[in-house]
Amino acid sequence: MKIILDDHLLCCEAMTESKSIQIGAWLDAPGPNARVEIRNDIPIPSPGINEVLIKLECSGVCHSDVHNLLGQTPMTTNVGGHEGVGRVVKLGENCPKDLLDKRVGVKWLHTYCNECEICQVDVTGCPNQHNSGRDVPGTFQQYTISPIEGLTSIPEALESEIAAPLLCAGLSMYGSISRAGLKAEEWLVLPGAGGGLGHLGVQIAREMGYKVIAVDTGERKRELCLKLGATAFLDFKTDDVEAKVKELTNGYGADAVVCLGGASAYAQGLKLLRNCGTLVCVGLVTENLPISPFEILARSLRIVGSTVGTPEHLVGLLEMAVAGKVKPIVEVREFEELDEVLGRLQRYEVEGRVVVRIPQ
Ligand SMILES: [Zn+2]
Ligand SMILES: [Zn+2]
Repeated sequence: MKIILDDHLLCCEAMTESKSIQIGAWLDAPGPNARVEIRNDIPIPSPGINEVLIKLECSGVCHSDVHNLLGQTPMTTNVGGHEGVGRVVKLGENCPKDLLDKRVGVKWLHTYCNECEICQVDVTGCPNQHNSGRDVPGTFQQYTISPIEGLTSIPEALESEIAAPLLCAGLSMYGSISRAGLKAEEWLVLPGAGGGLGHLGVQIAREMGYKVIAVDTGERKRELCLKLGATAFLDFKTDDVEAKVKELTNGYGADAVVCLGGASAYAQGLKLLRNCGTLVCVGLVTENLPISPFEILARSLRIVGSTVGTPEHLVGLLEMAVAGKVKPIVEVREFEELDEVLGRLQRYEVEGRVVVRIPQ
C-alpha cells in the first residue's frame, strides 16, 4: 500500500496545482479489527474525461461503511464514505463550464454502464457498477472525483448537513418503500422505525400515503415515530407485535414489511405479512430467510431486494425534503471523530444519522 501511495505522490508532484495532498480517513485493509486513520498525505486525484473534482464539506456515515471496514463487503479502496456534499472545484475534459462551484452530492452508486439490459430496468442493479467508498475512493476525504452523470445537484433550500443523509439513508428508504409496490392507505410495517434509516422511512411512507406501523422500543422512539407520522407504534419488547399487527389490519397482516434490521427482524417480518404481501430486504444480513418455497407459494408472497433508490427516486425525495416533508435527524461531528463514530455505529449506539464535517 505504501508503494502505491508513494507512486501517487510522485505523480502529484508533477501536477500544476498548488495543492497536491489532502486530509482523509485512510483504511489500510478491511478486516474484523480494522480502524481508519486520519492522514494528511493522501493524494488529491485529478478528474478525467467527463469527471469533476469536488471539495467536500461534509459526509454522512452509513452502516454500510462499517460493513466495508470490517471486510463483510468487497471493499477495495482505502477511503470509504458515500454520502458527501461539496462544491465542484475542477473540471475534467468535456465537462460543462457551469458545473464549476455548483454544490453537489456524491452517492453510493458512483457509476453504472447505462448500456446493459439491467440498466434498462433499474440502474441500481447494474452488474458493471462502481460504488463510492467501496471500489472507488469515497467521501471521507477533502477532495473526491465524480463522473458528471453521477452528480446530484443539491437544492439551495437544503443545508449540506441535512442533504448528506438523504443521499444514501433517505434514498435507500425511498427506493425500498417504492419497491414494495403499495397503494395509498395500505399497511407498511417498519421494524427499526426509530433508527437512522427508519425515521426517514416513516416520513417518506407517510408522504406517499401509506399507513405505517412503526416497530421499535422505548418511549422516546414511540414519541418520535408518532410525531413523524406513523399510524401506530409497537414496542417489540412489551407488545405482541404479531397479534397487534393482525389486529390493526383486519386480521390479515401488513401489505408490506420493509426489513431494515437483523436476522430476527426478517424472521418476524415474514410472519407479519398478509397473503400476497411483499417483504423488502434492506438490512445487510447474510443468514438465509427462514421460510420455505412452499410457504412462499401458498401465501403468494413477494420477496424483493433493494439497495439504494434510482436517480428518479432521488428527484422525488429531494422534492419532499425541500417541501419540508422529510427531514433527517442529524448529529454533526468533527472529522477526527470518524473512527469513534464508526465504532458507535457498529455497536448500534447512533440515533438518527451522524454527519462529519470535512476540514476546509
Ligand atoms: Zn449507505
Ligand atoms: Zn448497466
